[in-house]
Amino acid sequence: MINRLKKLPKFYGPVLKTASSIAAGQGSSIYLVGGVVRDLFLNRDIFDLDIVVEGDAIALAEELASRLKAEFKKHHCFGTATVELKGYKLDFATSRKEYYSFPGALPKVSPASLGEDLFRRDFTINAMAISLNKKDYGRLIDIYNGVNDLKSGKIRVLHENSFMDDPTRILRAIRFEQRFSFMMDLKTSHLLREAINAKALTLVSPHRLRDEIILILKEAQPLKHIKRIDKLIGINFIHKDLKLKNDDYVFFKRAQGISSGYLKSFKTLRKQQYWIIYLSKILIRLSAKSLENLLHDYAFRKGERIIILSIKASLFKARKLKKPLKKSLIYRFLNPLSFEAILFFYVYYPDKIARENIDCFLKELVKTNLRIRGRDLTRLGLVPNILFGKVFEKLMHVKIDKGISTKKGEMIEALEIFRSLSRPKPD
Ligand code: ATP
Repeated sequence: MINRLKKLPKFYGPVLKTASSIAAGQGSSIYLVGGVVRDLFLNRDIFDLDIVVEGDAIALAEELASRLKAEFKKHHCFGTATVELKGYKLDFATSRKEYYSFPGALPKVSPASLGEDLFRRDFTINAMAISLNKKDYGRLIDIYNGVNDLKSGKIRVLHENSFMDDPTRILRAIRFEQRFSFMMDLKTSHLLREAINAKALTLVSPHRLRDEIILILKEAQPLKHIKRIDKLIGINFIHKDLKLKNDDYVFFKRAQGISSGYLKSFKTLRKQQYWIIYLSKILIRLSAKSLENLLHDYAFRKGERIIILSIKASLFKARKLKKPLKKSLIYRFLNPLSFEAILFFYVYYPDKIARENIDCFLKELVKTNLRIRGRDLTRLGLVPNILFGKVFEKLMHVKIDKGISTKKGEMIEALEIFRSLSRPKPD
């Protein structure tokens, strides 16, 4: 197993050794756990580490951070802490067991052994650990035969109540199954259907559902995840009025086909959250009121809510993108929108002209800036007033359409616009 640990990013080698010796000094035991161990077997890239401590996880992480001069954050109520350095992150938690007082409830937790900590986990493939203790450094602890299930491509729960205890595992099971092209074993698949029939997902708080939905839509190929969810559960677990139609699938397929190269080329423009494009397509058939309520109930972030609502609100107007447009019109429509909303319309309208219009905005118009400022107008003798804002807005449109490139050209146009705006309107 030591060889498996060598597959971790090099940075972690000495860090884990240090953590190991701190644990020994503190009388604790320390283990690498969960998805990281699974991914070591699957030869997948690993970034962050999850570490479980039989002992005081916060004290161990704090000492490690101080020795490494790393950033340290603790979360007392959860008994967890994070150590971050050079873009690498280690999450520490004290080993615990969980007790669910009713299906979907948040679990009551109490300190426990590593074995109990592994038993509270979702699937066998996520319930393995690797010892980081001096006496057996690198030893695999695989109580539930996770390695076997990895080899045979199986998603298997650890006990009969798993999906009812925590119904988000229904979505997690589908996510891991689709990500790795695995299958649920018969029993798990049966338990999953039972939990779905018992409407277990309705017992989960919207916030937790939201987190799982986002994780699904962040997967490399969301389409197959969505298809599987639609088939097994139906998308109306998100909202009773939701139902996917053929055009949604066409959209998802197209969204997946937008090359990462294309996306990357615009990354610097605005912060991009591609998952929101899929979610918007799923949600925008809801009435404006229902959509607003849903976004509120699921506690999506303000920025996310604004993007999704703006897509819904612009849907009708966006049809004009399918026609050749003056550049200033493209600018006026797209500039107030977020990059995600613009990409949404790029996917929504695969027509040649619509894409040319959007490309024109992203490659050229978004970079257009005025050379003159307010003080340039005052230097011309104009007294600052509320018209200034309008002058700049109009000037931008004129600049774009006429291709004005010099400051002098902008001054001349600005003066002209100012005069025309100040002229009293005939009755
Ligand atoms: P990913 O590759 O998507 O990050 P992961 O397996 O690392 O997957 P996390 O959500 O980061 O998943 O959780 C880390 C570990 O915590 C999981 O591997 C699993 O052991 C455990 N876990 C997470 N969520 C649950 C849950 N709902 N029920 C039980 N165990 C869970």
